[in-house]
Amino acid sequence: MKMIDLRSDTVTLPTEEMRDSIRNAELGDDVFGDDPTINKLQEFSAELMGKEAGLLVSSGTMGNLVCVLTHCRRGEEVILGDKSHMFLNECGSMSAVGGVHPHTIANGSDGKMRIEDIESAIRGINDHWPRTRLICLENTHNRCYGAPLDSDYIASVCELAHSRGLKVHLDGARVFNAVVALGVEVMDLVRHVDSLSFCLSKGLSAPVGSVVCGARGFVAEARRNRKLLGGGMRQAGIIAAPGIVALSKMISRLAEDHKNARRLAEGIAQIPGLSIELDKVWTNIVYFDIKTDKMTADELVTKLTEKGVMTLATGTTRFRMVTHYGIGADDIDRTLAALTLVMGGKE
Ligand SMILES: *Cc1c(COP(=O)(O)O)cnc(C)c1O
Repeated sequence: MKMIDLRSDTVTLPTEEMRDSIRNAELGDDVFGDDPTINKLQEFSAELMGKEAGLLVSSGTMGNLVCVLTHCRRGEEVILGDKSHMFLNECGSMSAVGGVHPHTIANGSDGKMRIEDIESAIRGINDHWPRTRLICLENTHNRCYGAPLDSDYIASVCELAHSRGLKVHLDGARVFNAVVALGVEVMDLVRHVDSLSFCLSKGLSAPVGSVVCGARGFVAEARRNRKLLGGGMRQAGIIAAPGIVALSKMISRLAEDHKNARRLAEGIAQIPGLSIELDKVWTNIVYFDIKTDKMTADELVTKLTEKGVMTLATGTTRFRMVTHYGIGADDIDRTLAALTLVMGGKE
């Protein structure tokens, strides 16, 4: 029985074309700037984003940290959402490594922080206070139902930031899911941000890597910070090659994942004992809750796994399922059948 793994879109495996590209990649020592495949990926990424330069990093977590370290000095402050991946899921790296102070404000269920809240979080000049340096956004917003942030919202955050002398970083791990959901060009979403990082290894299905983009001077300094973190990799063209395939071939198919997420959500809504907010299914991430006290979240996860479906409990009653490359409509139907059985219904 094939396992249907809906824990994350990070479980995606490389396509045949990606595997071939690894075999055939032209390589060199990237610490000397000599890996032609990495250089090509970085130029391709920068061009796509409308930024001057790109930088391959080993993960989204490293990409975000490299950018924070490049924007901020010790004791400076970053404004970011209380449900952001950078705050919740990156080991507190900005403080642990950079001595940078996170200042969280509430993320709404649409992933947005209110402009008024951001504005009042920006520090004035006072000997007691850290200096605000950076505002971070996340698109799509992982914890907030995979919500896409639209270009008008991003532009208004950037306008506020820039008018106060601050920078904006976008954690765009799944920015291409936002692109596909909103029907816009990626450049429209990232035009005003000072830096961004996006993942090759999530819905785009490449095995490893993220790319940071920004102005030339910023990326030169980010490259130094990448080195500081031990992220100067040598013949990493074997990582970049499938990344190029990911960017060339895997973006538009994300629409399929969104369609499957919708199919999954609508099915879940029909299952007694489960609850889901259908108006909060935007991209490839589906959150739902168990209402019954018959079972704990962990028990549901175990029972589903026995039926060939892997999911993630993200709270005492809450689950996340993520659709991705390799999950078809038939897998969604099998998942719904398994959920129905586990919840005590008939298939
Ligand atoms: C996955 C993810 C990251 C980090 O990516 P890794 O490659 O797993 O380090 C950052 N931000 C968001 C929103 C993510 O979902």
